[in-house]
Amino acid sequence: MPNLAGKKVAVVGAGICGSLTAWAMVLAGCEVHIYEPDKDKKSCSFTAAGMLAPMAELESSDDNIYRLGLKSVALWPQIIQTLALPVYHRDNGTLVVSHRQDEGVFNQFVNVLKNKLGDDFSTSCELLTQQTLEPELKNLGTALYLKKEAQVDSHQTLQALHERLQLKAHWHWESAHNISAYKVNREDFEWVFDCRGLSAQKDIPGLHGVRGEVIMVEAPQVNITRMVRVMHPRYKIYIVPREHNRYMIGATEIQSDDTGPISVRSTLELLSAAFSVHSGFAEARILALDTNVRPATMDHQPVIDHAPGLTRINGLYRHGYLLAPALVEKALKDLGIELNSFLKRGEHANCI
Ligand SMILES: Cc1cc2nc3c(=O)[nH]c(=O)nc-3n(C[C@H](O)[C@H](O)[C@H](O)COP(=O)(O)OP(=O)(O)OC[C@H]3O[C@@H](n4cnc5c(N)ncnc54)[C@H](O)[C@@H]3O)c2cc1C
Repeated sequence: MPNLAGKKVAVVGAGICGSLTAWAMVLAGCEVHIYEPDKDKKSCSFTAAGMLAPMAELESSDDNIYRLGLKSVALWPQIIQTLALPVYHRDNGTLVVSHRQDEGVFNQFVNVLKNKLGDDFSTSCELLTQQTLEPELKNLGTALYLKKEAQVDSHQTLQALHERLQLKAHWHWESAHNISAYKVNREDFEWVFDCRGLSAQKDIPGLHGVRGEVIMVEAPQVNITRMVRVMHPRYKIYIVPREHNRYMIGATEIQSDDTGPISVRSTLELLSAAFSVHSGFAEARILALDTNVRPATMDHQPVIDHAPGLTRINGLYRHGYLLAPALVEKALKDLGIELNSFLKRGEHANCI
């Protein structure tokens, strides 16, 4: 593998994966060209709730995602330090709750985590029979506190990365039709990073879409400070607090690549579940309903695929923010670039 430090590279796609890759390459001193088809189209990365939840996700993921996730949780604060615009980041954990009648589902979740986490369970999780962490949710039954989980505001993260990249990289607003990674590869770039998400379907066997829907509300009568996951036999929802009493309520998971507007069923389910957790959501104002399609591989594992002159990073599925820092770090390490050494010099961003 060549050492790319200081060379001219292209990044195709400016979702969270492409934007982080591009920023890392800028920090490494490369001349970075970003190809993105549409200024106004919101990528899947804009829809994400921004949870960094390696433990909660273990219910349906595995040790690989867990380890990469822990690494990303540690990398995010360092990445944010290199950005100029503020990024909302909280690391006060997740509270997993259920209604008393659904305790069976809750207990099953706890057992899965105990089994998958082994010794880590006692250091990173705490069963609370009478939880006081979120006083407004004290009527719910036993809670599980996942101490090491964090979140970033996905909109602010992308905005902050794009603001840096507007200054430090060359943008090419070109139609997706004209810029497959291979076409760009014929130019004089030393290397091309293909981070097109679901649009790379033709080049990554089995890559498919998994639809997700979220609702952003403003709820002045709700004061929850941590991410909350509600265990329920039919639909599992999360409530992610953002600044100014805003809450992201999500998310559906539907095997479909339909990016059309949110359905009535999903809207009812998400909002009723939130209301059942806290009656203050009744008077909340709906600020946005959003839908997007997660890029998923058949085994739900992320892909780093190196070919001559080309690296593909894809298949981030439910875990774009949870995995992107660790995946980008891993991909660049293969190419001779130590992301950590650039991030450690937190002042670097200000002087380039
Ligand atoms: C409802 C929902 C909630 C989620 N919540 C979370 C969460 O809490 N935590 C978490 O970690 N993850 C979450 N995710 C998952 C996360 O959003 C995705 O894993 C992530 O966005 C994938 O990032 P990406 O950069 O690979 O792809 P994308 O975000 O899809 O970005 C791909 C980019 O490539 C561009 N592009 C497409 N075709 C071309 C082309 N030919 N040339 C150039 N550019 C092109 C696109 O315009 C886009 O900007 C959620 C997803 C959904 C739908």
